[in-house]
Amino acid sequence: MSMQDQAQAEIEAEMKAVGSTTQPLQQNQSTLPPKAEIDVQHVILVLSGKGGVGKSTVAVNLATALANHGRRVGLLDLDFHGPSIPKMLGIESRVPTVSADGIEPVRVTGNLAAMSIGFLLSSPDAPVIWRGPVKMGVIRQFLAEVNWGTLDYLVVDLPPGTGDEALTIAQLAPNLRGAVIVTTPQDVAVLDAVKAVKFIQQLDIPVLGIIENMSGLVCPQCGGTVDMFGRGGGRKAAGDHGVPYLGAIPLDPEMMRSGDQGRPYILQQADSPTWRAVDGVMENLVAEVES
Ligand code: ADP
Repeated sequence: MSMQDQAQAEIEAEMKAVGSTTQPLQQNQSTLPPKAEIDVQHVILVLSGKGGVGKSTVAVNLATALANHGRRVGLLDLDFHGPSIPKMLGIESRVPTVSADGIEPVRVTGNLAAMSIGFLLSSPDAPVIWRGPVKMGVIRQFLAEVNWGTLDYLVVDLPPGTGDEALTIAQLAPNLRGAVIVTTPQDVAVLDAVKAVKFIQQLDIPVLGIIENMSGLVCPQCGGTVDMFGRGGGRKAAGDHGVPYLGAIPLDPEMMRSGDQGRPYILQQADSPTWRAVDGVMENLVAEVES
C-alpha cells in the first residue's frame, strides 16, 4: 500500500470512529449526524479564502456590534491553528469553567460569551496539531457540551479555506442562516474568496455577502486614502456571482491596534470614516440576516 493510500485508510478509519465520512455531503443525507441541541436563532459563519485578510477582526466586531444592539451572542472560534479571538477580545488569560450544565463559555459581557481552543492551550504559542476527525470531535463538543444558554446569534470564526471545520459546522449547527466572506481587494485574494463563495453555495448555505477589508489605506498623517491593495475587487466579485456586497473597510492602523489591545474597534467612540465604514458593514450584515 502506498503512503498516500495508507494515510487515506487511516483517516477513513478515524472518521468512521467519530461517525463521519469522506464522501461528499449531498450523497450522505441519510447518514448525516443529528444537529447539535443549542437554543440559537441565527448561526452565522465568517469565512475567507485565505488567511490574514481580517476574518477574525470581522467576526469579533460583528459579535460585539450585535451584543451592543442587545442581542444575546455567542462567538465560537473554530480557527484551531490560529485562534485569535481570545486576544482580540482581551480575554486570553481567562479559562472556561465546568458546571453541572456543561463547559461554561468565557463571558465578555452579560450578553456576549466566547469559546475558543485558545483558552485551553498550555501557552499561547503552543501549536495545535490535529487530524480532521479530532477537530470534528472538538467542534461537536464546542456546540453540544458548552452551556451557551439561549442565544440570538452564534457567530462562528472559521479557518481560512474550504476545509473540515466548515463542513462539520454545516452538518451540526441548527438554524444556519448563512456565511459572510471576507476578502482584501487584490486579485489573488478575491480569487480565493470566490472559491469560498462557491464552496458555501455547494453546501446549500446562503452567502450573506462579501466584505472588502483593507480597502485603501487611511494615511495617519493627512487622513487621505492610498490604494495599497487596489479597490473594488470584493464588490466586483459579489456582482459577478450574484451575492450581496456588504461594504468596504479601510486599512487603518487603529483597527490593527484595537485588535492587539483586545478592544474591538466598533466599541471606539471615534466618529471617523473607518468607524462609520465598520458600523455600516455591520448594519448591512444584520439587515441581511434579519430581513
Ligand atoms: P484573519 O482572521 O483573516 O487571518 P485577522 O482578523 O487576524 O485576519 O487580521 C490580521 C491582522 O490584520 C490583525 O493584526 C488585524 O488586527 C489586522 N487587520 C485586520 N483588518 C484590518 C484593517 N481594516 N486595518 C488594519 N489592520 C487590520
